[in-house]
Amino acid sequence: MSELDLAPAFTTRREEAMGTLAKLVSRGLGWARKYSIFTYPYSTACCAMEYMSVASSRYDIARFGAEFPRFSPRQADMLLVVGTINQKQAPILKRVYEQMCEPKWVVAFGVCASSGGFYDNYAVLQGIDRVIPVDVYIPGCPPRPEQVLDGLMLLQQKIQSQPHRLIEREKKQASLAGERPGEIDLLAPR
Ligand code: SF4
Repeated sequence: MSELDLAPAFTTRREEAMGTLAKLVSRGLGWARKYSIFTYPYSTACCAMEYMSVASSRYDIARFGAEFPRFSPRQADMLLVVGTINQKQAPILKRVYEQMCEPKWVVAFGVCASSGGFYDNYAVLQGIDRVIPVDVYIPGCPPRPEQVLDGLMLLQQKIQSQPHRLIEREKKQASLAGERPGEIDLLAPR
């Protein structure tokens, strides 16, 4: 039984207020994050042309706040795997993913990245989810720009709905310190 299970069932006004504040902060951070995605385009094959099309003025990915490609994993939070990944590239892709800071998300762009596509052979990785976790799969060979934007909007919904890590960490620290969640002072320096 955890310490939280031993906490009384009633809450005080202060606890309620802090819970509401935590929810508001989480929602606000989720909203800010979903409209400020920094993309690391890991482009290896023909799907890269379609990525360029999405990024250019006709489809204008900037409308979704994801217009800045970053070519350092340390400055990106969305790994966009664009194209065929062969077995030799798999460890490199994994290293790039590991170098990205949390929170981070992965999108498989096209069937090659999602499942190996029609390259059903020993040289090609049969889906990037064999080496890294994937949040959104975009089908198509190559996918149309509208499909890519649809996938991006799905990812935005996911980012908005997930709890903010900072708040989760505060809760964990509080439970380790023997505090109840409502007693956490989010504004206090830690
Ligand atoms: S999904 Fe089709 S277009 Fe994209 S990299 Fe594979 S073969 Fe090329």
